[in-house]
Amino acid sequence: MSDNSANFTLAPVARLESDYPDKFGIPRQPGLASAARGRLVMLPPFDDPLALRGLEGFSHLWLTFIFHQSPDQTSERWSPLVRPPRLGGNAKIGVFASRSTHRPNRLGLSLVELVAVHTRPEVYLELRGHDLVNDTPVVDIKPYLPWADTRPDARTGFAPTAPACHPVEFSADAEAQLAKRRDRDSLRELIEQVLAQDPRPAYRKGQESRRYGVRLRDLDVRFQAIVDPRHGLVMRVFELVSLSRS
Ligand code: SAH
Repeated sequence: MSDNSANFTLAPVARLESDYPDKFGIPRQPGLASAARGRLVMLPPFDDPLALRGLEGFSHLWLTFIFHQSPDQTSERWSPLVRPPRLGGNAKIGVFASRSTHRPNRLGLSLVELVAVHTRPEVYLELRGHDLVNDTPVVDIKPYLPWADTRPDARTGFAPTAPACHPVEFSADAEAQLAKRRDRDSLRELIEQVLAQDPRPAYRKGQESRRYGVRLRDLDVRFQAIVDPRHGLVMRVFELVSLSRS
């Protein structure tokens, strides 16, 4: 459809089946949790294998997607300033100087790893390292070109380096629960990478006795932030609870 009006309509080309059932805890950029696995299932009429021909030669992709769980900001309700978690959730900066999920048009952009292209019987891409919640609508897919898309010397404003990581430890109970799982190795890696980011909301930091749950795969991973005299802030997993039971 040609669209010469001021507005455009986007139809999702695919939907992501993600290791993250819930927004809470998802790392704030892709690649911070390389163990996250996803299936990007192509939607009709874009589930034509021809549309993916040649993609298998690329190791990484750009996904353009809709932050469908963020409010749809109409011209009346949009806010020019946001509070990035990176600045402790207090300082405000311009929405277009941020990667905030609360933005006009709700478009997200993530660089993800392409593990495999599947075309039979279902047409889907096997991905790793994404930062998207389950069911996110993806509106475009493009191959990543390092010679065009990488600028190691770029200036990076208020986000100069990746956020600091914290050590993660497991209680004996959590270890025993992990040991029973077929996906124990990739699950352990995912839990470690996600909790290393200290996903607690900025306003809760300092309330160290509080317990939290992060949903990963089919589990609620219960953890606490502990101040350790030698290692500083440590994330301690004390229990893995099945989501179907919680
Ligand atoms: N790399 C993307 C996303 C950065 S924000 C970009 O720069 O555009 C990452 C956060 O988006 C995650 O921590 C998660 O909480 C949130 N998120 C992921 N999928 C979402 C969705 N479909 N709707 C709303 N928020 C989402």
